[in-house]
Amino acid sequence: MNAFAIDSLEARIGAQTAEARRLSGQIVCGGGLRKALTTAQFDIENPATEEIIGSAPRCGIEDVNSAVDAASLAFRSWSATPARERGALLMRAADHLDGFREDIARLSSLETGNALPTQSRNEAGTMVDILRYFGGLAGEINGQTYPPDPGRLLYTRREALGVVGAIIPWNAPLMQLASKIAPALAAGNTVVLKPAEQAPLAVLRVFELLQAVLPPGVANAITGLGEEAGRLLCQHPAVRKISFTGSSAVGAMIMHYAADKIVPVTAELGGKNPNIVLADANIDRAARGILQGLRLQRQGQSCSAGTRIYIHDAIYDAVIERVLAGITSFRVGNPLDEATQVGCIVSRKQFDRVERYIEMARQTPGARILCGGQRPEGLDKGYYYSTTLIEGVPASSPVCRDEIFGPVATVSRFTDFETVLQEANDTPYGLAATIFTENLPAAFDFVSRIDAGFVQVNQFAVAEANIEYGGTKMSGMGRELSLASMVQHFTWSKTVIVNTSAA
Ligand code: NAP
Repeated sequence: MNAFAIDSLEARIGAQTAEARRLSGQIVCGGGLRKALTTAQFDIENPATEEIIGSAPRCGIEDVNSAVDAASLAFRSWSATPARERGALLMRAADHLDGFREDIARLSSLETGNALPTQSRNEAGTMVDILRYFGGLAGEINGQTYPPDPGRLLYTRREALGVVGAIIPWNAPLMQLASKIAPALAAGNTVVLKPAEQAPLAVLRVFELLQAVLPPGVANAITGLGEEAGRLLCQHPAVRKISFTGSSAVGAMIMHYAADKIVPVTAELGGKNPNIVLADANIDRAARGILQGLRLQRQGQSCSAGTRIYIHDAIYDAVIERVLAGITSFRVGNPLDEATQVGCIVSRKQFDRVERYIEMARQTPGARILCGGQRPEGLDKGYYYSTTLIEGVPASSPVCRDEIFGPVATVSRFTDFETVLQEANDTPYGLAATIFTENLPAAFDFVSRIDAGFVQVNQFAVAEANIEYGGTKMSGMGRELSLASMVQHFTWSKTVIVNTSAA
């Protein structure tokens, strides 16, 4: 029996809705949860029921200023704290969060629609893991010494940048927040983070909990609209680094804000990722990989989802048969239900977007919906949508080219590897790519010729601490989740020359 299945669904929803109300109207600034200065609010919805569960402050310039001021003040002592001491505090913060993991995960499921058993619970674990990982790495932020040079000592120091403005999307907020704050804080920076409008509550709860361990002002969270709070945060003169995850369109705007002040940006952006199965692939493994690549535990709302599926004609029918059987075996339901494997889409806006693309596919001559294309039976309220596979969509169609960011993928037959490789690369994106084959030279040929920052062979897994992640082309710039990326993106290099001669 599942160890978590002890309370009823109603009790779970009730408890987390009460928590949502407690957090409503609050931000985390200067050492604690407190009411925002603004009185303007926006609603937060439970996407599974379409009910309003709370509200969050629509922060403007006063709240942004106060959070950045708190972070600037804290930066002086935090950046001067010995690196291993900072790391120890981050690891203690991780331990502290660990004790609240289940509640954090439930709150996240309530606002995102991500299923607790398959997504939010794991994601909360990953959040803790990422904090621990970077806590352990804090003492590894080293400069270089130059070769011995008589009469001179030459070396570099890695310095913290200052206040980091972090902006994240709604699809996996716990993992995203950890990917931002853990390396930033370990490297001696302080942070002001803005979560997405749809999913600010679990983020606020995490930041509230962090205050029990971290000094005041080191980790702050404000809420608000992207074009208001997000823009103001990026444009604030004291914000010396912007770490952004979201769409390519907003990423481009963020880079403009950064250009005006000449500050560095890390941009983790969208993807439309090819998942290719060659004729010699292990059929069961490929079908499993395609299913995992659909990222159904997040209803396909994953930047790395393999949403352009190409299967060699020789095994197409066998693979598709297994994939369709797999899709129908998943249980769709309330995200907080212990039996649920697939939850619901995050918002009406995303739901409508998915429907628009499905309609476009319906109008496309030759296109055929293999499964889905509608709400799941019996789930008439909430943003539930059946996983949809579409075949026969031309490569030029927006269905094949745009990042839909929902439970939708296209499937195509191919016979020629060169043609499929060209098609796979014919996209403005370059985030992730996967290939299934038993032929190692073919796999390595693909690895070297595909334009993607995260390439997998014969498996589909997601990013984790210590496995560097990021894209190329319009999928962004910079990397996350590794020591090298922490040093590169959250510190700057100072060169020092000391005259050591006696005269
Ligand atoms: P989004 O619309 O780009 O929003 C992301 C964040 O940016 C939100 O907090 C948003 O605030 C804020 N924002 C919007 N306009 C802004 C502006 N003018 N200035 C500053 N901030 C602004 O993306 P989304 O719809 O939340 O998330 C989905 C996207 O994220 C997809 O493209 C997905 O591929 C990408 N993603 C990428 C990765 C990766 O690692 N590469 C991981 C996860 C997701 P509001 O909430 O108020 O709009």
